[in-house]
Amino acid sequence: RVWNFSAGPAALPQAVLERAQREMLDWNGSGASVMEQSHRGKRFIEMAARAEADLRSLLAVSADYAVLFLQGGATQHFAQIPMNLADAGDSADYIVSGHWSEKAVSEAAPYLRVNVAASGEAGHYLALPPRESWQLDPQAAYVHYTPNETIHGVEFHDIPEVGAVPLVADMSSNILSEPLDVSRFGLIYAGAQKNIGPSGLVVMIIRRDLLQRAGRPMARIFRYAEHAAHDSMLNTPNTWGWYLAGLTFQWLQEQGGVAAIGERNRAKAELLYRSIDGSGGYYRNPVEPSARSRMNVPFTLHDAALDAAFLKESETAGLLALKGHKAVGGMRASLYNAVPPEAVQVLTAFMRDFAQRHG
Ligand code: PLP
Repeated sequence: RVWNFSAGPAALPQAVLERAQREMLDWNGSGASVMEQSHRGKRFIEMAARAEADLRSLLAVSADYAVLFLQGGATQHFAQIPMNLADAGDSADYIVSGHWSEKAVSEAAPYLRVNVAASGEAGHYLALPPRESWQLDPQAAYVHYTPNETIHGVEFHDIPEVGAVPLVADMSSNILSEPLDVSRFGLIYAGAQKNIGPSGLVVMIIRRDLLQRAGRPMARIFRYAEHAAHDSMLNTPNTWGWYLAGLTFQWLQEQGGVAAIGERNRAKAELLYRSIDGSGGYYRNPVEPSARSRMNVPFTLHDAALDAAFLKESETAGLLALKGHKAVGGMRASLYNAVPPEAVQVLTAFMRDFAQRHG
């Protein structure tokens, strides 16, 4: 297999894929695949409960929080979160640090008053909006932020202090990448397709007192309280996604949990940033060093005319999906949990070699 640096859907751990392959035709002694099982059956319900328990144990999630396995991608929840946590006249604070927090703002706008409390747009999202500049409203229904901006490659390395207002975080591209104090949050959500499993699944950790917030009318399928009351089986869940998420959680435990994976992720990112910064300007990452992402590393070549050769040769060398997002151009290497340290060693060796050959 290739070394996969895709931003998402992204690499899954090799061991998880091999296990899913072994179990594809006969899951858990049932004689059928997990995708062919009723979600109401004993086998599936046990598997689903174990996946939740493993996630709770990995992140030390207390009983004050519900863990939900939902659908619709993170994007649907950009809209569903304001529907559930606020009423139409309420306002919520949004910290805008890149493309995905911009999207969260635009999808929330039909459901409440959005206050952009801080934005890094003027600086082209190359740094986080400084904490002193945040105009937080103590009456806000919640504060929403994006701890890791997948496209711009900027990451918060500390959890912002926002007082008594519930903190809501889109952790699509950094969940489970290091230890996390869940008790600091009102709600955490993540599309699964980077650090958890296949797209189509959304994992949410929501403080139970927030489940009953909104009085506005909405279909049951949109109401988080209904999903919590039905153990995320209000309708047919994404059974395949839930199963693979469970396998990933077991794999993470085998790796030593989020503390061990966090150390590994830090070392991977350091190696790549060191190679970029030490290339004498051949490669460049424009993000302010204290805000650099451990998960997504955008970089440019000193001459954009070399981009096509870099992409072609890297692909031939077995390095997949290094093309940067069109909004920022250049290259991007995503270093999620399933990317092994060896992949980053191969990438940095390729980058040195490419620079030598192309001068
Ligand atoms: N939020 C972040 C941080 C992302 O990286 C992404 C994208 O992949 C999304 C939201 C959108 O997720 P989805 O495509 O699951 O709606």
